Amino acid sequence: MKCGKCNYWLIAPLVLLVAACGGKAKKQADGMTQEKETTVRESSTMETIQVGSVNVTWIQDNAGDRPMARSLFPDAGDALIDSLSLRDGVPSTVSVFVVKTDSVVILFDTGLGAAGSRLQAGLKSLGMEPSDVRYLYLTHMHGDHIGGMLTAEGEVVFPNAEVYVSKPEHDYWMTASSNPRAAKTLEAYRNKLHLFAFGDTLPGGVAAMEAVGHTPGHTVFQVGRLLVVGDLFHGLALQLAHPEICATYDMDKEKAVETRKRFIRYAQENELTMAGMHLPAPAFH
Ligand SMILES: [Zn+2]
Repeated sequence: MKCGKCNYWLIAPLVLLVAACGGKAKKQADGMTQEKETTVRESSTMETIQVGSVNVTWIQDNAGDRPMARSLFPDAGDALIDSLSLRDGVPSTVSVFVVKTDSVVILFDTGLGAAGSRLQAGLKSLGMEPSDVRYLYLTHMHGDHIGGMLTAEGEVVFPNAEVYVSKPEHDYWMTASSNPRAAKTLEAYRNKLHLFAFGDTLPGGVAAMEAVGHTPGHTVFQVGRLLVVGDLFHGLALQLAHPEICATYDMDKEKAVETRKRFIRYAQENELTMAGMHLPAPAFH
C-alpha cells in the first residue's frame, strides 16, 4: 500500500509516514505524484525542506505570534475580512531562509535583529556560525529585513558574507532620509557590497528578478524550483486569493499589485515553492 500523496510505501508507522511526506507533495499535471518537498527537520519555528535539488531552511526570526493587523489592509472590506475570520489580524511571521549547497551557505534577508531575534539561535541549531554565511541576498532594505546585519554596537554580524542588493533599492535608500539605518548598514558592509541588475544570475545560480512595488528595488530570487518572494505578501490568507489588496507598507500600490499577480501566476505555472518573509509558519507555500 502506498501513500496517495507521495507514493511512499506504507511500511512504517503512520507517524513516520507523515514525517516522510511532510504534507507538502504536489500533484503533477499528468496525474502521477512525486515527492516535491521532503521535510527533514521540523520545529515550530524552523523547518528544512528539499525543493528539488535545493536544500532550504526556514527560520522564524520573531518570537511568539506576530499577526499583521487588520488595519494594515484598508482596501479589504469588513465583509471579506469577516468571511475569512481575519478580524483579529492576518497570520504572518518575520522569516529568513538559508540555502545550503555543497560549497556555500546563502542567507536571504536577516530579520529584525532586535532583542528576541531568533536568527542566530536558528543558525546555531543548524551547526552554523554567522561567519559561515558566504552570500547574503537582500530582497529589500526595510528594517525587518536588514535588522540582523549589525549588532547593537553597530558591528558587522556576517564578516565573510558578500552582500547583494539591487541597484535601484540601494540608490533609493542611500538618498532617502527616512531610513538612516539602511545607509549605516550598507556603509558597514561597503567592502563586501555588490549591486545587481534585475535579470542577473548571482553566485549559487540564484536569479534576481524584478519585483518592484513594495519598494523601488524589491527583488524576488529564484534558485531551482524555490522562489524567495520577499514581501510580495504581508497577509497570505488575504492576498493570495485577492492580490489586488495591498498592505499599507507597499510603497507603489499599482506596481505591487501587478507584481503580486505576476509572481502568483509564475509560481503556479511552473509549480514553484514560494518562501516568503511574512508568510505564516512554516513560511513556505
Ligand atoms: Zn517586511
